Amino acid sequence: MKTPLKNSVTASIMLLAIGAWAAESTKLPKLVDLGADKCIPCKMMAPILKELKTGYAGRMEVEFIDVWKNPGAGKPYKIKLIPTQIFFDAFGKERFRHEGFFGKEDILAKWKELGVDLKGKAGSGIVRETPVAADTRLRDTICFMCDGNIDPKTKVVVKGQAEQRLLCSPHCYFIYFSSIVGTDPKAEEAKVSVTDWTSDKMAPATSASYLYGMDAKGRPTVKAFADKDAATKEQQTSPGNLVTWEVLRSKELAARCAFCDRAVYPEDACGVKFGATHGYGCCTHCAMGVAARLGQDIEVEAKDGLTGEPIRVKTLDGQIASLEPASAIAWFGQLKDPSGKWVSAGCFKQGFFVNEANLQKWLDARPAMTGRQITVAQALADKMKLSPEQIAKACKLGECK
Ligand SMILES: [Zn+2]
Ligand SMILES: [Zn+2]
Repeated sequence: MKTPLKNSVTASIMLLAIGAWAAESTKLPKLVDLGADKCIPCKMMAPILKELKTGYAGRMEVEFIDVWKNPGAGKPYKIKLIPTQIFFDAFGKERFRHEGFFGKEDILAKWKELGVDLKGKAGSGIVRETPVAADTRLRDTICFMCDGNIDPKTKVVVKGQAEQRLLCSPHCYFIYFSSIVGTDPKAEEAKVSVTDWTSDKMAPATSASYLYGMDAKGRPTVKAFADKDAATKEQQTSPGNLVTWEVLRSKELAARCAFCDRAVYPEDACGVKFGATHGYGCCTHCAMGVAARLGQDIEVEAKDGLTGEPIRVKTLDGQIASLEPASAIAWFGQLKDPSGKWVSAGCFKQGFFVNEANLQKWLDARPAMTGRQITVAQALADKMKLSPEQIAKACKLGECK
């Protein structure tokens, strides 16, 4: 399908000096599509260009020029028809041009035929299969859930048959609680002890009193007390409400990941919008999974794992429709399971970054972390290929693969 170019544009193009554009240089191969938003084949090109722009961010530049709205920008390319796609290599040299609609696979095949390697940059993405430095922390100082250091003032212990699970805080306990399947909640809670804030001794969780406050970021702070009077005394110097275990539980379980159903604090979570509803993903990858779980288009508002800068992703029919900034990338934290297979390292080890430099800095501070850099499109694709059964088991302890 082809649409003749408007006469005025053609005429002025004829007069244009050759090579006016050639001075511009670029380090990446570049695809320029010249069209108009009202031409039908051009409209068909639009989603393809979007996919290429986001899916090949950092590997290829994709530019759309509307030659009806902006004839001046189209002139240097001396096109005869719209849409026209022009392929420039990394040195800015025109290698090929195509007139009319051109499919995504055909575009990628053409780059390959031209000998332009679009995988090169992605292949050099960060991969860390072995830790830069071993994690030398003692096992009983590490939170079973988040892998963070356990604060002895807020430690929670869950007694198991063979071993006990240590958690850094009541919040991590409720994340754990929302990640277990097939256990009777009451029986589970009977196994839990919390650290008494005053004496640092362990006390049964269900009969303790909790001073529930808030830090400067809006995250709840939870202090446990075996003795209610001690809690009342602490409340005088440290504001908060005294609540029972039941109230604490209902507050902690109120906000959930819309993909894996884990308890989240909204302050830590990734925002997800689906239809008119706002929800949370407990991590960036879970947020993408909401599109798979609900079968809906979603908008994700993530924060750069290092700087907190916003990263916005919109999906359309299970694919990326837009990514801001286009340079944003994902880190897929992985571990080798006992059989040597790479598996997800869990929600606490995932993240999005506005660029590779930020990811590298984040990794530099986490020498024990292993995994690989992937595209945001890949993070979505990984979730879209899950079956409903796999989604139901996602992030559940012992079930997540
Ligand atoms: Zn923790
Ligand atoms: Zn989740």
